[in-house]
Amino acid sequence: MKRRDFIRRAGLGTLAAGSAALAGCGEEKAPKAVAGSSADRRSFEWKMVTSWPKNFPGLGTGAARLAELITEMSGGRLTVKIYAAGELVPALGVFDAVSEGVAQMGHSGAYYWKGKSEAAQFFSAVPFGMTAQEMNGWLYFGGGLELWEKVYAPFGLVPLAGGNTGVQMAGWFNTEINSVEDLEGLKMRIPGLGGEVLRRAGGTPVNMPGGELFTSLKSGAIDATEWVGPYNDLAFGLYKAAQYYYYPGWHEPGTTLECMVNREAFDELPDDLKAIVRGAARAANADMLAEYTARNNDALQTLVDDHGVELRRLPDGVLGRLRELSHEVVGELAEKDPLAREVYESFRKFRDQARAWHDISERAYIEARG
Ligand code: CA
Repeated sequence: MKRRDFIRRAGLGTLAAGSAALAGCGEEKAPKAVAGSSADRRSFEWKMVTSWPKNFPGLGTGAARLAELITEMSGGRLTVKIYAAGELVPALGVFDAVSEGVAQMGHSGAYYWKGKSEAAQFFSAVPFGMTAQEMNGWLYFGGGLELWEKVYAPFGLVPLAGGNTGVQMAGWFNTEINSVEDLEGLKMRIPGLGGEVLRRAGGTPVNMPGGELFTSLKSGAIDATEWVGPYNDLAFGLYKAAQYYYYPGWHEPGTTLECMVNREAFDELPDDLKAIVRGAARAANADMLAEYTARNNDALQTLVDDHGVELRRLPDGVLGRLRELSHEVVGELAEKDPLAREVYESFRKFRDQARAWHDISERAYIEARG
C-alpha cells in the first residue's frame, strides 16, 4: 500500500486500534472500528467518464442514474460526477482513463476494448449470442462476472454490468434484403463482430460515430446502418433517411453495457460503500433494460403509425447464412488467446443450456401468446 493511501485509510476508526497497540495488545485485539466498518465515515469524490453524449437516451441516461443512485444511497459520502464523451476524455478513452486513475469510474461497452483483450468482446455483444436475460444469468450466476474480472484484472479494473439494451434492430436499409446475394456489395455501418460477419457475407462494413449516421445514410455514402432500436433510432430521425427497418438484431441480441471501476479506488472504499457501488450497478443494469423495453414499444408505434416506416423481417435464408458465419467468426475469436478460449467455452456452454430451457419457456410462451 502506498504511504498516502495508508494515511488516508488510517481514519477515525484506527484511533482505538492505535491506543490498543500502544498498550502492547497488537492489532488483532483492535476493535472492529477500522476502515471497512460502518464507523468509517470518510467521504469520496469520484469522476465517471462515459462513452455517451450528454443525456443520450438509454445509455447516457442509464449512466447518469447510476451516478445519482450511488450519491444518494451513500448519503453523499461517495459522490459521483458524470462526464459525457469528450468532456474529460474522448468516448473511446474511457478504458485507459479509469485504468490509469484519471477517473475512478467509467460507463461504456466492453466490445470497444478488443485491442486491450480479445476476450472483452464476450461481455458486450456476440452475434447470435445471448439475450439480456441470459447474459444476466451467465454473469451473476454462471461464472461470467468472475471471468470478466479475470480479463480486466491486468488493467487494474473491476468490471460490473451496467445496463442492457435488449435485442436491437437489424437496421435501416434503402434496398430490400430478400436473399444472401442482396448483402453483396452492401455498404453498411455495423461495427465489431457483426461487421466481420457482414464482410464474409460479401458486404462492406464501415464504422462511424452515431452522430454521422443520418447524413451518411441520407447522402448515400452508406446503403444501410444499424444503430440500437426504435427508442434511439427515432431520436436520430433515421426513418427520414431509409425506407425499410429490418429485424431482428442478430448481431446484438442483448448488448451489455459496463460500469468499470479503478481497482485501487474501489479497494480504498469502506465495505458499505463497496456494497453500494455493486448494488447500484446491479440496479442500473436492470433499470436500463426496463427503460429500453418501455421506450422501444412506444417509439416503434410512433415510427410505424406516424412516420409510415416499413417493418421487415430478415428472411430465414439470410439469417441462416449470417448464423453460420457468426459461429465461424466467434469460433476464431476463441483461438486468439487462451483467455479468450476460456471465456468462449463458458459462454458457449451457458448459451446452449439457456437455449434448451428458453425453447420451452420464453419462446414457447411467446409463441403461445400469439
Ligand atoms: Ca448497435
